[in-house]
Amino acid sequence: VAAAVAPEVTVFRSKLPDIEIPSHLPLHEYCFARASEHPDAPCLIAAATGTTYTYAETRLLCRKAAASLRGLGVRQGDRVMLLLHNCVEFVLAFFGASLLGAVTTAANPFCTPQEIHKQFSASGARLVVTHSAYVDKLRHDAFPRIGGAGGDAALTVVTVDGGDTTPEDEGCVAFWEMVASADEADVPEVSISPEDPVALPFSSGTTGLPKGVVLTHGGQVAGVAQQVDGENPNLHMREGDVALCVLPLFHIFSLNSVLLCALRAGAAVMLMPRFEMGAMLEGIQRWRVTVAAVVPPLVLALAKNAALEDYDLSSIRIVLSGAAPLGKDLVDALRARVPQAIFGQGYGMTEAGPVLSMCPAFAKEPSPAKPGSCGTVVRNAELKVVDPDTGLSLGRNLPGEICIRGPQIMKGYLNDPEATARTIDADGWLHTGDIGYVDDDEDVFIVDRVKELIKFKGFQVPPAELEALLLAHPSIADAAVVPQKDDAAGEVPVAFVVRAADSDIAEDAIKDFVSKQVVFYKRLHKVYFTHSIPKSASGKILRRELRAKLAAAATA
Ligand code: ATP
Ligand code: MG
Repeated sequence: VAAAVAPEVTVFRSKLPDIEIPSHLPLHEYCFARASEHPDAPCLIAAATGTTYTYAETRLLCRKAAASLRGLGVRQGDRVMLLLHNCVEFVLAFFGASLLGAVTTAANPFCTPQEIHKQFSASGARLVVTHSAYVDKLRHDAFPRIGGAGGDAALTVVTVDGGDTTPEDEGCVAFWEMVASADEADVPEVSISPEDPVALPFSSGTTGLPKGVVLTHGGQVAGVAQQVDGENPNLHMREGDVALCVLPLFHIFSLNSVLLCALRAGAAVMLMPRFEMGAMLEGIQRWRVTVAAVVPPLVLALAKNAALEDYDLSSIRIVLSGAAPLGKDLVDALRARVPQAIFGQGYGMTEAGPVLSMCPAFAKEPSPAKPGSCGTVVRNAELKVVDPDTGLSLGRNLPGEICIRGPQIMKGYLNDPEATARTIDADGWLHTGDIGYVDDDEDVFIVDRVKELIKFKGFQVPPAELEALLLAHPSIADAAVVPQKDDAAGEVPVAFVVRAADSDIAEDAIKDFVSKQVVFYKRLHKVYFTHSIPKSASGKILRRELRAKLAAAATA
């Protein structure tokens, strides 16, 4: 009888050697480990006011924030919710909680009270740090009564911009008052294990409801180290760099790859409360931003904006795009305006802690990445590509589901062991749900999500590819491609298109434009003109909303 032979697995690894990762350190200690070497270097810059905090000041304020939170009853293992736009207080509260061994869950302040409550109750938070303007959302019936400090079942709300003086802030604690009177020596010694959670980010909700993800101290230390540590860091940041932090910190891309990575590397973080083109360009110019983390909708807005010429953007040396597919032509359009910068992508996923691959051209000793690629798999990790139907490992250049294994991935989904077991298999591989492949030079390419592929007869059509083509057309300001049900073909690709200002391009012209560039089964069957494409705060096209629109129109 033939012995069962284990199927061969092709494992892809970084071209860079593995590094030593100090996973035993709690995240706050790890991020600030070298801060005492550059105490006077700028750490946080509040772009809105120009206030700058050095590394020494930031560290001290984090300890004071920890002492204050402790005074409000926060203990090891407790959950703290941040309902904040990007601001200095976000950073102080995040590390303040971490110092206590408490866990942060950050939510989008633009969410409805119901949405916020879902995350609040799933995470088991009892304290929320927010802006005065959003306290009203926490007065919704679903929440416990706002009861100041330490009330039993009551909710403690800390406002970063108010006192107890305005009606909105009644019953709330003022962040800066509490920090001003705190003693940094009042931070208890807590023993934190690498397995302990530090953050509970929620996924973007692109394919369904957002999923709570448990990230640990050890995992986040590994996730940051894979990017910025070692002799030849994959994402080379250093003292003197200024990182643009305009992407929301409640999303893992900005929290991990911008904030945590910049702090570990000794760079400054320029915090912008929200995206506003003029303010962002001003900020880049004024603070000489060197590392710009962006998402495709931001690249689109920049590439198609003439105002860029009025600003000095010559300080930018790295443009790092992530969170969603980015077309080559769009990159080229922006590159022409920021010619000195290196453009590249990272590929991340909340559950993956978050980075799976990073552009090697960002390394201290750079190596090239091909246009359109998401770089190479990060160090100290393994990546494989499997056939989504059979689960069998695939070799180079063959698209399949990307899986990742390493110390950086999530511990699991929040309160959902079944979903965790479906996503991380018995061998520790996290299944991403993304279709991609690795080429002969180790470059990782993402095709699209398994769930978003359009099935025309037997053929697979990745909407991201058609969207990239459409965006390259000068008369098209924005576009999204989704499947429409079809009796003959099952599904056909159709596009929602936002015309550029002054353009009256017609449906046929768009269809022809695409048909000339693609194989027959990828041709567009219909174009719907619209005023905007729905996108999430983290920069993803919400194709499910467009699919729902089509379905509703079909039954109407
Ligand atoms: P949900 O899981 O709630 O439906 P989501 O998957 O969009 O939402 P995130 O964890 O924020 O939530 O995003 C991860 C996904 O983003 C990846 O699985 C992948 O589909 C996409 N993505 C991230 N970076 C890139 C990239 N550089 N190119 C293409 N896709 C990317
Ligand atoms: Mg996801």
